[in-house]
Amino acid sequence: MSCTWKVVFLGESSVGKSSVITRYTQGKFLKNNATIGAAFSSRKIVIDSNHEVQLEIWDTAGQERYRSLTQMYYRNTDVAIIVFDLSLDIEESLKHVDSWIEELYKFTDEDSGNHLQIVVVGNKWDLLKEKKDVRIQEYIESKGQDQCNLRYLEVSAKTGLNVTKLFEETVIELIPNDKFTLAI
Ligand code: GDP
Repeated sequence: MSCTWKVVFLGESSVGKSSVITRYTQGKFLKNNATIGAAFSSRKIVIDSNHEVQLEIWDTAGQERYRSLTQMYYRNTDVAIIVFDLSLDIEESLKHVDSWIEELYKFTDEDSGNHLQIVVVGNKWDLLKEKKDVRIQEYIESKGQDQCNLRYLEVSAKTGLNVTKLFEETVIELIPNDKFTLAI
């Protein structure tokens, strides 16, 4: 049984969206490479002998600067990954995350709004000098009360920490059983 699972990346410029994707799809970290963003990459994940998933990963490729992501970008999104930079001001970052969630719902209401899943990712964990900021936890919990069921994961595109886990556990676990169909 197989399924296709569309994952879109959102977040401010330079938070490391392309780097997280490149770390996963190519297994490497490219320094100062603002334009690597292949807008689209695809990867097959074999879950077990009966199930495989074609992950379609969409990168903003710089368009997020102008908030000019198109309807096509959002259409049929299954999972939105909203990235922020753990080394920047947390209050500011969480405001940005909020605005991306709003943007997302604006565009996805009609088609995939019903089953849309959101994963918030704090990237650049390697630059973090302190323990996890309690404000992040509070934010995620408050969103839970808004009935917007967020997952949260800290990663580092630089060291690779949690990057495979993000795609192959967190994202994959969100797939409902009835999404799989017989044909491969
Ligand atoms: P995007 O604009 O969100 O796609 O961000 P990029 O992937 O282009 O990354 C912006 C900058 O942050 C680049 O200079 C990357 O090398 C750097 N960067 C990305 N991820 C990490 C990380 O996990 N740790 C560190 N230290 N730097 C990172």
